[in-house]
Amino acid sequence: YFITFEGIDGAGKTTQLRRLAERMQQAGYPIVQTREPGGTAIGDKVREILLSPDNQNMTPRTEALLYAASRAQHVDEVIRPSLNQGFTVLCDRFVDASIAYQGGGLELGEENVARINAFAVNGVLPDLTILFHLSLEESRKRLNQSRGAQLDRIEQRDAAYFSRVEEAFRTIATAHPERVRVIDANRSATEIEQEIWLIVLKHINK
Ligand code: C5P
Ligand code: MG
Repeated sequence: YFITFEGIDGAGKTTQLRRLAERMQQAGYPIVQTREPGGTAIGDKVREILLSPDNQNMTPRTEALLYAASRAQHVDEVIRPSLNQGFTVLCDRFVDASIAYQGGGLELGEENVARINAFAVNGVLPDLTILFHLSLEESRKRLNQSRGAQLDRIEQRDAAYFSRVEEAFRTIATAHPERVRVIDANRSATEIEQEIWLIVLKHINK
């Protein structure tokens, strides 16, 4: 199985991914836990370029292509081989993030971003996506609390950008109800963990 976690920043998806990974391991499921941008040595270098506040003059198409490049390496080096070996892959962000952030947020258009990503992933797509829903106000509040002034290049963007991102995520959820499960991220971490665990168990025992 290929399971992805998506949603705007500060929703707790990284924590929840780690908790799910621990639970699955304890239950005896072979898993690989990974993230984007990154997940490989080359991908991590691309991640640095993408997130560095120094790179303010990066153009939107370059940004979209760099995310896709990190993803192509990740698919070839980690995701596809792991799936072929029977691992369940748990990935923090994937194509949906690009459709939302670069397609919606940067206004490149969801079609264009989907097209370059179809080339990047070469047929590898998640069969379950957990989408964390959090209000923009709460997202901002949590980001500022956890990181103060050290926001990455993308987190520094304005509220209009994030509201386009959030809207694009909602469109994705509506378009793919069979794959995407929306989670209310305003609840306690323990409640969210339990809900995700039930969703995943149901999915893998189908
Ligand atoms: O998930 P994480 O917080 O590690 O992502 C790092 C940054 O990259 C975040 O600011 C996120 O908004 C951004 N991002 C993006 N497009 C993607 C994936 C992540 O803008 N496709
Ligand atoms: Mg983040």
